[in-house]
Amino acid sequence: MTTQAELLDTLRQITGAPHVLYDGDLSAYTQDWRKRAQGKALAVVRPASVQEVADIVKACAAAGTSLVPQGGNTGLAVGSVPDESGRQVVLSLQRMNAVRAIDAANLTITVESGCILQNLQQTAEKAGFLFPLSLAAEGSCTIGGNLATNAGGTQVLRYGNARDLCLGLEVVNAQGEIWHGLSGLRKDNTGYDLRDLFVGSEGTLGIITAATLKLYPQPAARLTAWAGLPSMEAAVTLLGLAHQHLGAGLTGFEVMGQFALSLVDKHFPQLRVPFIEASATNASQAGSNGSNAPAVGSVAMPYCVLLENSDSESEAHARERFEQLLETAFDQGCVLDAVVAENLSQAKALWHIRESIPLAQAEEGLNVKHDISIAVSRIPEFVEVTDALLRQRIDGVRLVNFGHLGDGNLHYNVQAPEGGDAKAFLHDHEDEVNTLVYDSVARFDGSISAEHGVGSLKTDKLPLYKSAVALSMMHAIKKGLDPQNIMNPGRIVKL
Ligand SMILES: Cc1cc2nc3c(=O)[nH]c(=O)nc-3n(C[C@H](O)[C@H](O)[C@H](O)COP(=O)(O)OP(=O)(O)OC[C@H]3O[C@@H](n4cnc5c(N)ncnc54)[C@H](O)[C@@H]3O)c2cc1C
Repeated sequence: MTTQAELLDTLRQITGAPHVLYDGDLSAYTQDWRKRAQGKALAVVRPASVQEVADIVKACAAAGTSLVPQGGNTGLAVGSVPDESGRQVVLSLQRMNAVRAIDAANLTITVESGCILQNLQQTAEKAGFLFPLSLAAEGSCTIGGNLATNAGGTQVLRYGNARDLCLGLEVVNAQGEIWHGLSGLRKDNTGYDLRDLFVGSEGTLGIITAATLKLYPQPAARLTAWAGLPSMEAAVTLLGLAHQHLGAGLTGFEVMGQFALSLVDKHFPQLRVPFIEASATNASQAGSNGSNAPAVGSVAMPYCVLLENSDSESEAHARERFEQLLETAFDQGCVLDAVVAENLSQAKALWHIRESIPLAQAEEGLNVKHDISIAVSRIPEFVEVTDALLRQRIDGVRLVNFGHLGDGNLHYNVQAPEGGDAKAFLHDHEDEVNTLVYDSVARFDGSISAEHGVGSLKTDKLPLYKSAVALSMMHAIKKGLDPQNIMNPGRIVKL
């Protein structure tokens, strides 16, 4: 049996001593982004090549030591940090960040998994292409983490999620073998799709060390609009109109409840949120179906929508199509007021408001977060029913509702009553709120994790909301590929 000291020695031989960290402040690797979990690692290992990753996995397997793969540690499901035992090794991919190749004719880019998403976007842009995956954590998350969580973000409507953008993978499996699957083929029906198995597996089946990804032509113009709406139903109607008018040009459709926006207004007043009253924070607990909703002037606008139109012809063409869409929407009463960004910096400012909602919410205090998906057509009813249930159950509860409506994905979060003690609220109500929301999601045939994954946060919930047959197949896959249970154990499924 290998001792811990012997394992550390072997790891140092593989990567060089400076890349095996085990003392000093390791919290950047052991604490999750939302500070919900603080683990303890035997060591943090930072390999520089796929061969080093393979050797590390073999050494850990021989020692019976489990591994937690980690990219940028921005995951929101507590899947990238070690447990509290002090016996797990964190395998950080940060040093493996090279761009290996761009194939312009095949429209692909091959990168190592530790490549920061923003660097990948910029590299593609310099080569004259678009890599469309985009999310608020793009300055620090890695493509390996994006693929391992099958990240979504703001462009899914047009380009799909991380899975849809991936054509091939290089993976080190739980036995320390290297699977070279970076072919970049768009068609390959030679049996089970291993790529799709590893995408979204959250480090529980193997370690993604590189990926071949799709590139797209850069759009000729991108326009952003912000619209004030009378209801969630109106948002769904507007989405349908946007599909009709903009076709494949519709690249973003984000919905934001007034209370979510009022928190941005309250905590980041310099951002100047359109169509909001300064008093909206206090008035915010209106029904999200529009009754008693905060008003701008005398008109109630309980929801705002951020739309993005990417046009392959010209900015003038994009503007014309946007104007036609908004005119139709005004005529049908689903848009009450709208602004179209005049230039890139105005567009960025509007997106910045949307991206600031999670931070504003954090400033307001601890809250219970949900990342759910429901068929778009059923979202208005889901929100109405679930809002009412929560309000009946907890007096004064505040609902922060925003998300990627175009993908049927809501961040449906629950905040303590105004002035209440957020910690005590979580202690008293977190389980109750989760059960109420997830039961409601289940009644609407939705998913309890649309894009953040399962991690440790939802592992215990999965058996309650996933079919027994699906779970049993997932267990079989985990046992088959990782019989020793050394790859991020306890996440997604427990063996
Ligand atoms: C401000 C903010 C906004 C966000 N917005 C979105 C959003 O719009 N859409 C969305 O989908 N997500 C969003 N997220 C969460 C999202 O999952 C992560 O930001 C990102 O995809 C994770 O990348 P990472 O490199 O930080 O992975 P980490 O946090 O390091 O890891 C996440 C999971 O992947 C595993 N993993 C990491 N790298 C590898 C690898 N190379 N091989 C195998 N497993 C690996 C880890 O073990 C862990 O289970 C957001 C997060 C933040 C903080």
